[in-house]
Amino acid sequence: MKCLVCGMDININNFNINNVGLLEKNERENFKYCPFCGVSSKYLRPEGEIVSDSEMYKVPAESLDDNISVILDHAMKLEIFNSEFYKSAVKLSHNLEVKETFEALSKIEHMHAVVHQKLGGFKALPTLVHIDYSKYKNDKSLLELAEAREIHAATFYEKNGKKINNPIIKEVFFALFQVEHDHMQIAGGY
Ligand SMILES: [Zn+2]
Repeated sequence: MKCLVCGMDININNFNINNVGLLEKNERENFKYCPFCGVSSKYLRPEGEIVSDSEMYKVPAESLDDNISVILDHAMKLEIFNSEFYKSAVKLSHNLEVKETFEALSKIEHMHAVVHQKLGGFKALPTLVHIDYSKYKNDKSLLELAEAREIHAATFYEKNGKKINNPIIKEVFFALFQVEHDHMQIAGGY
């Protein structure tokens, strides 16, 4: 299977890599989500069924207007920001299951940043100022912050998806809105 959003190949060796970061676990016979970017199976296709490149969610970056480029740049930064928060949260948290969840979410958010990088044709992922999260001393406070971050991200995609007139990017924002919504439930479910 191939993910139309992030372009990754999904097979029996990798279908379960980020299972703890998915609302329902992927099973060998049933891929419910892309394990790399977390989008639902609606966006997965058997490789043989993809007849042309145009079915992949790609756009020529030069065709985008400034307005969309600015939104994609913002989206890429937001995802790196959240991915780095989760990386810190892995180190600061105590419960093994919580650590594994943060690890999976960090990887999924990083993949979202890569999706935006490709869509926007940006040369590199941004380097953000390092933030010290060490005042969040227990898992509960980290999970609360995670949930707040996910609410912010979901709202970002919902709000900005409406402003975008490119149908492919609009669909990507809708798919990622759903992923962040799932993450809200995962972080809030502990
Ligand atoms: Zn994907």
